Amino acid sequence: MTEQAYSKPIPVPQGESDYYWEKAKAHELWLRKCDNCNQAYFYPRDICPMCFSRNTSWIQASGKGTLHTFAIVHRAPTPAFRDDAPFVVAMVDLEEGPRMPTNLIDVEPDPAAIKVGMAVEVVFEDITDEITLPKFKPAAV
Ligand SMILES: [Zn+2]
Repeated sequence: MTEQAYSKPIPVPQGESDYYWEKAKAHELWLRKCDNCNQAYFYPRDICPMCFSRNTSWIQASGKGTLHTFAIVHRAPTPAFRDDAPFVVAMVDLEEGPRMPTNLIDVEPDPAAIKVGMAVEVVFEDITDEITLPKFKPAAV
């Protein structure tokens, strides 16, 4: 998809998240992990949100997780999302621990098809030449 065709809000990489977006573009999901309290966290930032240590590093996530919760959006929040509705907004618990806001795709936007606790895996949507969004789909069984 070209940049002109994408009319939804686009993330703006910052100093602390450049690496995250660079890796997303390469279709890899990376997280920050605290080397002090040993917990991974999302969104990426230099200071650990659990213990405030600056002793943190990057780890590659498996891309596997479970669906924590979801909502099916029928009325688009802005005209840019109108063609997508109904779509699924989700919170995914990653295997490494962090809970990540995302979209659930490749699934019927129907409560009968989506279950809290279901296994999901990351997929990558290239929205511009620079930005790729990590989204999730039901895991292959
Ligand atoms: Zn920590």
